[in-house]
Amino acid sequence: MFSSLLLPAGIGLLLVALALGILVLNERRYQRQRLLTERHRALGLPEGELVYEDADGEGEPLSSSAYPLVGKPDYIVQLPDGRPVPIELKLGVHDATIPYSNHSVQVAAYCLILEDYFVEAPTHGILRYADCEFTIEYTPALRKKVIKLLTEMERCSEQQPPPLAKQRVAKCRACVFQPVCPVGRNR
Ligand code: SF4
Repeated sequence: MFSSLLLPAGIGLLLVALALGILVLNERRYQRQRLLTERHRALGLPEGELVYEDADGEGEPLSSSAYPLVGKPDYIVQLPDGRPVPIELKLGVHDATIPYSNHSVQVAAYCLILEDYFVEAPTHGILRYADCEFTIEYTPALRKKVIKLLTEMERCSEQQPPPLAKQRVAKCRACVFQPVCPVGRNR
């Protein structure tokens, strides 16, 4: 009699333990998702999944297979429709009324790199300054401009350096054109 009750009681306990385990897992997953959502909102990122970040300098360098470009955008968010959006922070820039052209080119260069990493091609990036942000449309014209700059830079030499030659070493190390720039290449 006693032993015939043991089996159902054991199964019951097992089921309760399983249910508790599932509850704990669900709660952990929910808390993790909540923290991620809160962080996403606090960073002011567009809706989507944060798939890459380098704001802390820890991101892997991303490179293009078709062009000599290497870069580390501060964030990449993948929109719900699959398009990646690179986000570049330039928080030292104040009171800008339009995006600086070299910053726009940098965002476009990231878009060019991201063509290799996502099925959906990027259509724009975001440039964030201290007090405002701009959407940089990745137009065919801007894409062409990046490729043209790369070609021009390949023709540069130590004697004929690129226009941005007086950059600090740290800037060169973060520059997407470093692989082809005769000034920044060995810095
Ligand atoms: S690598 Fe340095 S010098 Fe060359 S373009 Fe970039 S920032 Fe300018």
